[in-house]
Amino acid sequence: MTLLESTLSAENAVTHATVDAGESYIGLVKQGQTLRIVDIEGNEAADTLFFNAQDTSEHYSAMDTIREQGNLYLGVGTALMSDRGRPMLEITADTCGRHDTLGGACASESNTVRYDLERRHMHSCRDNWILAISQHPEFGLTKRDIAHNINFFMNVPVTPEGQLEFADGISGPGKYVEMTAAMDVVVLISNCPQLNNPCSGFAPTPLGVLIFD
Ligand SMILES: [Zn+2]
Repeated sequence: MTLLESTLSAENAVTHATVDAGESYIGLVKQGQTLRIVDIEGNEAADTLFFNAQDTSEHYSAMDTIREQGNLYLGVGTALMSDRGRPMLEITADTCGRHDTLGGACASESNTVRYDLERRHMHSCRDNWILAISQHPEFGLTKRDIAHNINFFMNVPVTPEGQLEFADGISGPGKYVEMTAAMDVVVLISNCPQLNNPCSGFAPTPLGVLIFD
């Protein structure tokens, strides 16, 4: 992993939002702008999707990103690729060192299968995304646009046997990841409300979202 601090100062951000525990964020990041996501209290997971703002049928692709960089984990230098093989953003700074794109997002269905039938009605990332896009129809996204995602700050190591583990996080208070947009993108983030595994430290906390010109 490569740790690299940003050269940007938070006071120069043109957007500075706090995403409360269990809430979501949707917004536009224009080509050339830089998006910073901050793990304010540490050990949070930011379940994130990206769409081409000009044509939202083009979206972030975990498979294309992993294949192009030949690495399962995301970090400084990673080009986040679209399903049409085009770079959407590039990670330019990172003080955490571990970001997952294999583990997927929590959903009512997976909570039921993994944990208990009684967990069916628990708050999930997938429900967060669906609520955000329904409350913001101006972005033109529908349920069928929801694809595979990035889990910034989440630690999902691949074991020697090829299994995935939802491990305790290595992030900490104030750690952040930053990426510069290569095209106009819509960013959709669920601040993960998961209480059944350690991805949010069993106590979800706020995230910061900053955008720089
Ligand atoms: Zn989640």
